[in-house]
Amino acid sequence: MNNKTLLENLRCIPDFPQKGVNFRDVTTLFKNPKCLQIMEDELYEMYKDKGVTKIVGIESRGFVMASALAIKLNAGVVLCRKPGKLPGETVQESYSKEYGTDTIEIHKDAITEDDIVLLHDDLLATGGTMKAAYDLVKKFNPKKVYVNFLIELIHEDLNGRSNFEEGTDITSLLQV
Ligand code: IMP
Repeated sequence: MNNKTLLENLRCIPDFPQKGVNFRDVTTLFKNPKCLQIMEDELYEMYKDKGVTKIVGIESRGFVMASALAIKLNAGVVLCRKPGKLPGETVQESYSKEYGTDTIEIHKDAITEDDIVLLHDDLLATGGTMKAAYDLVKKFNPKKVYVNFLIELIHEDLNGRSNFEEGTDITSLLQV
């Protein structure tokens, strides 16, 4: 029922950002108070007993629910951003994209070995972005790393989960 509400409110925009891509636009979930509440409640139920101390939100659509959930879980929020946006000293990770490479970074003092980290983004497609974020967070040697997406694209050409080592704790609210 909850998933149905989310699915009904998720907008798809064909040919964005390029021809052939059917873009899942989660801003239509963010602007809807009922959907926002459903997502927060579901995420809270999933992670309330995990002892999460930091939620790493991936720029920029990952920031929204990372913040909402962190407040409920009494955890901190860490921003994972494109290069040149964070003012302090950072740790970086680069990854391959279809054309060229990309880099993401987080502040060097954002995570400690005592942290239990939840990585969060809006959507899993090829998994390249989240794998880079996962490898980046692993450099801090936290106690545990969880991974969550609002939406997981299920397609034989994508298989985003295959980037992660067996046993990685990955969840998603919607599989489309
Ligand atoms: P991946 O690295 O191929 O898994 O792509 C996931 C990243 O690209 C995430 O940070 C998403 O925000 C973004 N992304 C890719 N496709 C979509 C989409 O259809 N809707 C929203 N974000 C997308």
